[in-house]
Amino acid sequence: MALDLYQYIASIPDYPEKGIIFRDISPLMADGEAYQEATDRIVAFAQDKGVEMIVGPEARGFIVGCPVAYKLGVGFAPARKKGKLPRATIKAEYDLEYGKSALYMHKDAVKPGQKVLVCDDLLATGGTIRATIDLVEQLGGEVVGCAFLVELAELNGREKLKDYDTLALMKY
Ligand code: 5GP
Repeated sequence: MALDLYQYIASIPDYPEKGIIFRDISPLMADGEAYQEATDRIVAFAQDKGVEMIVGPEARGFIVGCPVAYKLGVGFAPARKKGKLPRATIKAEYDLEYGKSALYMHKDAVKPGQKVLVCDDLLATGGTIRATIDLVEQLGGEVVGCAFLVELAELNGREKLKDYDTLALMKY
């Protein structure tokens, strides 16, 4: 029988700020069966999409995206914070609650026309994933889907992903 993945998410009240409930995915990652099942469900979602590359934002997007890439037998490219990538990069900005942040990718990380699945641990306002999608599209890649472990539905991140086939394994 399929595992109940919700049992592997720890909900931490008032972290990192008062009034926020942080959804901690580390118990899921720490359990081999749960981590494998979450990966397999994303792989099943990706199966008929012709995915040629996985892209995930720093840092938990790597944890979700890399095993999916391995299973599909495709590559993985990271979207990283400022100053982390050693070669020529492109940039996408996104809004934070106060101010802006940006993600970067190497200019040759995605080839024009490549079909890309974008993965992260959690969809909240959608700013992070939208910046990741922008990077892929700047490089001429085609985003064929977005996959998350967790979606915080009340923050309406899906609004920003209307044009993309989106999977979230758990919703709060
Ligand atoms: P967004 O940009 O959609 O507002 O926020 C999503 C990003 O912030 C993701 O990259 C995710 O790792 C991180 N994040 C925000 N809130 C949480 C949370 O409650 N739990 C986890 N695991 N990550 C979060």
